[in-house]
Amino acid sequence: MALLVQKYGGTSVGSVERIQAVADKIIKFRERGDDIVVVVSAMSGETNRLTAMAMEMMEQPTPREMDVLLSTGEQVTIALLCMALEARGMGAHSFTGGQVRILTDTSHMKARIKEIDGTRIHAQLEQGNVVVVAGFQGVDEQGNITTLGRGGSDTTAVALAAALEADECQIYTDVKGVYTTDPRVVPDARLLTSITCEEMLELASLGAKVLQIRSVEFAGKYKVPLRVLSSFEEGPGTLISLEEESDMEDPAIAGIAFERDEAKLTVTGVPDIPGIAYKVIGPVSEAGIEVDVIVQNAAADGSNDISFTVKRGESEKAKKILEQVATSLKAREAVLDKKICKVSLVGVGMRSHAGIAAKMFKCLADESINIQIITTSEIKISVVIEEKYLELAVRALHAAFELGDPDYIPNSN
Ligand code: ASP
Ligand code: MG
Repeated sequence: MALLVQKYGGTSVGSVERIQAVADKIIKFRERGDDIVVVVSAMSGETNRLTAMAMEMMEQPTPREMDVLLSTGEQVTIALLCMALEARGMGAHSFTGGQVRILTDTSHMKARIKEIDGTRIHAQLEQGNVVVVAGFQGVDEQGNITTLGRGGSDTTAVALAAALEADECQIYTDVKGVYTTDPRVVPDARLLTSITCEEMLELASLGAKVLQIRSVEFAGKYKVPLRVLSSFEEGPGTLISLEEESDMEDPAIAGIAFERDEAKLTVTGVPDIPGIAYKVIGPVSEAGIEVDVIVQNAAADGSNDISFTVKRGESEKAKKILEQVATSLKAREAVLDKKICKVSLVGVGMRSHAGIAAKMFKCLADESINIQIITTSEIKISVVIEEKYLELAVRALHAAFELGDPDYIPNSN
């Protein structure tokens, strides 16, 4: 008999009918003899709906009250799911984060889990009940309701699996698992049977939004076997494996991630002296703007160009800051380019396979795509290119690295 933690996301519990379908599914697992702890999100769209109402009350809603508000979404779904289970003759018991006692720090809207008390959950399992826990929420030492940040139910599920020493944490979602890239861009993208935790982290932080990044970090740290699978279709999904190394047979590249809403800022003609990178980047990050790729290039004439990327939504704010910096440093100019994107190859096999970068650059050159910035890490190569080439680049790379599904049948209509 195994202990499974199963998480059902917003679309999986998006309507009364879907909640009933989830109940049917859980009963099937239960009938195989496994103990089940379920974590649910709010019904799809609910967290956004609540946020919109809050914004009508005040421009910057008080974080503590936001948590009181947002946590209601998940409280609805735990109760409804338990009712659906009970109506089917299955004993079920719901817990809010506070009732379990998922203890977090006090950082409202981005709280971190400190400790989980498994006592009440174990007691319910022993009575033969399915336990249904509200995702995304916890309480701090004082009993204030906290939430874990958008998409936080994934993290609740993995953290619970770690605390309860579950045999597997299964994330049921609206896709079949993790693909080599977004199937909406590359129709023959292949469903991966497994991917290393490290690769998943890179793919997740690079824009593949299957799992909340923090949940993957958590799974790696606490060695929780994690699986992503569809709640609508049968199939094994993708296992996020804890193995350090992938198979010898595995291709060097696991997948291609991309990020559309990026912008590039460049300041040119900065004097080439110590402390310059700090003077340029410092004020931007002090303003709370997350800086992604950074390149600095010293020219022979003793001047410097510094480019970096930020989220497009924050780029105008970053540009204002950069203009002030440029003036104070007597730089030539500060330029903003909003029409860029980032495409990245990810794979642990890169460590042992030479020539991946060269192959990537040749592929892009063959498509006449200009690379503006290149950055690499041990298991990743990213390029910044003009946004209009995003689809072309991803498709060309996917084909060049032979990532496609050999069994893919193009839709003929
Ligand atoms: N309901 C929350 C959100 O939409 C948490 C979650 O679904 O994981 O972000
Ligand atoms: Mg989600």
